[in-house]
Amino acid sequence: MDAVSRRRFLKVSAATVGVAAASNPLAKLAGGAAPGPGAEAGLRTVPTFCDICFWKCGAIAYVQDGKLWKVEGNPSDPLSQGRLCPRGTGGVGAHYDTDRLKAPLIRRQRRGQDEWAQVTWDEALTYIAERMQAIKAEYGPEAMALFSHGIGGAFFKHTLKAYGSPNIAAPSFAQCRGPRDVGFHLTFGEDVGSPERTDIRHARCLVLIGSHLGENMHNTQVQEFGEAITAGASIIVVDPRHSIAAAKARHYLPIKPGTDLALLLAWMHVLVSEGLYDTDYVAQHGYGFDAFAATMATYTPEWAYIETGIEPEVIRETAREMARHRPATLVHPGRRTTWYGDDAQRSRAIALLNALLGSWGRRGGFYAPASMDVPGYPYPAYPHAARGKVDNPARKYPFATDTITTGIREATLTGQPYPVKGWITYATNLFSALPNEAETIKAIQNLDLLVVVDVVPSTMAGWADVVLPEATYLERYDDLNVELFREPFVALRQPVVPPPHDQKPNWWMARELARKLGLNAYYPWADIEEYLETRLAKAGLSFATLKQHGIIRGVKQPNYFDEGVPAQFPTPSGKIEFYSTQLQEKGFDPVPAYTRPEEPPPGYFRLLFGRSPVHSFSRTQTNPLLHEMMPDNEVWLNADVAARMGLADGAWVTLRNQDGVVSNRVRLKATQRIRPDCVYMVHGFGHTAVRLRRACGKGASDAQLVTRYVTDPLMGGTAMGLNFVAIQAEA
Ligand code: SF4
Repeated sequence: MDAVSRRRFLKVSAATVGVAAASNPLAKLAGGAAPGPGAEAGLRTVPTFCDICFWKCGAIAYVQDGKLWKVEGNPSDPLSQGRLCPRGTGGVGAHYDTDRLKAPLIRRQRRGQDEWAQVTWDEALTYIAERMQAIKAEYGPEAMALFSHGIGGAFFKHTLKAYGSPNIAAPSFAQCRGPRDVGFHLTFGEDVGSPERTDIRHARCLVLIGSHLGENMHNTQVQEFGEAITAGASIIVVDPRHSIAAAKARHYLPIKPGTDLALLLAWMHVLVSEGLYDTDYVAQHGYGFDAFAATMATYTPEWAYIETGIEPEVIRETAREMARHRPATLVHPGRRTTWYGDDAQRSRAIALLNALLGSWGRRGGFYAPASMDVPGYPYPAYPHAARGKVDNPARKYPFATDTITTGIREATLTGQPYPVKGWITYATNLFSALPNEAETIKAIQNLDLLVVVDVVPSTMAGWADVVLPEATYLERYDDLNVELFREPFVALRQPVVPPPHDQKPNWWMARELARKLGLNAYYPWADIEEYLETRLAKAGLSFATLKQHGIIRGVKQPNYFDEGVPAQFPTPSGKIEFYSTQLQEKGFDPVPAYTRPEEPPPGYFRLLFGRSPVHSFSRTQTNPLLHEMMPDNEVWLNADVAARMGLADGAWVTLRNQDGVVSNRVRLKATQRIRPDCVYMVHGFGHTAVRLRRACGKGASDAQLVTRYVTDPLMGGTAMGLNFVAIQAEA
């Protein structure tokens, strides 16, 4: 194992940030030199929390002589533990980005032609309100939908609910963590939450199956991963690509893509057949174990070898390794789990494997989280929507626990079960998040109104009727972060510097829009500070204290069953459901079953995509600091295959998918660190929006190549690992 201490892990981050600071693009962007270390005069600090991704790490922002200088971790914050990830440190670049949206815009030409008139806020909001009222009069309020991402969407959600629409969705469910949440919910009666209740810090054995932690930069988890490695935890990584996490592993299993469920079943076979599972825990908390165990009997390691390419002895050895460390063995549930269409069942298999190891509710497994009790603001009740949500008619996906974005898109396309005629998108680029962009474009053409709220002129903004420029997180208040975590806390996002142009915070836009819609009763507060102060006062907390420290921590609660947390499982049986009667009643497999995935046709590779530690989705490629660290992506191809194809490392290539869609040119990374049957690229590149001058045309877009998807029959998630690409050398 290449054991790496936490210190070395963090040095990598510091070095990359150091590169950015050394070339000092901020000096040019800010119109002067950024202050150097030790500068004191005119220095002030403001605690807040980061929004470069959704993790919400506590931060301290430094302002020198009125100019934003740098952002560091807030040592009082349990999420960041005083350290930001490279993206968070580069958050300053979001403020200084010269490509930012600067004022409200109304489209003057055909949709998608990117021709705009700059208007006042009053004109923009009046235009939106008039069209929303027209949609309500003709189609009902449910014909408006909101797509939202992150905590900043809270006030737009409030306005849409007050207007009368239940159609509020986020890609984080059907395109990301939904299968995992449903799989765990069906098994334990609860999901793993966000931040996940994973006790990585105390794990003695950590299993990552398709999760490239460290590239997938969830700050708290990456820091705890470093702590676990330093403490000598055994790491098992299952991935077709030798990821950064794989480099730290005792066991690396280069699995054939699409066959993860076969490996999970074989692992459970070994634990059951060799009697290595936690018999007391299963006897006390399990339901339907005998039927489950009988089903597992056929899934031998020899059977799984044919499917996965993993040697039977490796399967046995890794299963025994997990058993040796139980219950402090954590099989990580992953985050983006929308892969092959059997995703909720695969996630359920991960939940069941954890159940066999007795890790739910145990130290080194899954802890029981807690949160502060901070009441909401006392608003009037929302109007009752005459029609239910549009996304999942007749509960076609019976186990969906949230709104399905692609269900709203489908209703917009078909008019069934009723028409959707207006979309507001907040901080989400649906062209990057949803599969099959042709369907998104067709749906947009059916709209009477498309409003895009964003910081930068994204592809989504290019299709809007009205674009509303938002202040960055360093320039605004947001709602309180009352997180479910290891320990309860409440955190504040507050303005550090004013917006540089005519940008506004989301709460202001949502409130002014509500006023123009005649919904004043839903915004009784004079300003956001009054709103925040009222909420905090109801919890007996001081707004002044929170402004000063950025965080108020609550009393530490027990985290584990053996610390007194009651072992309760809110499933139909009240136990951990090894056998699910809920699934059986709806005609699904009560115990997960394996289906062999489709193979790539000759000459094609399975397209895999994932994350970089310096970018978040498609949101940060224009950030000058993060762009400098990683301006484009590469496509990984097995070096032997590349040699056979006559492709050199660094060659420019294009990718053509099974439906004939061709990518931007992209550099080839020829490496032994990936299997020969797949290629890999970092998500979020290949922007086509010309106003993103820094990012446009750089790298290739995986999202454009994801034209094919299947929908998870349990919960409506869109599996995107079904696309194949051929590689063509650039002429
Ligand atoms: S993980 Fe990184 S980008 Fe995300 S909130 Fe934390 S510091 Fe910011």
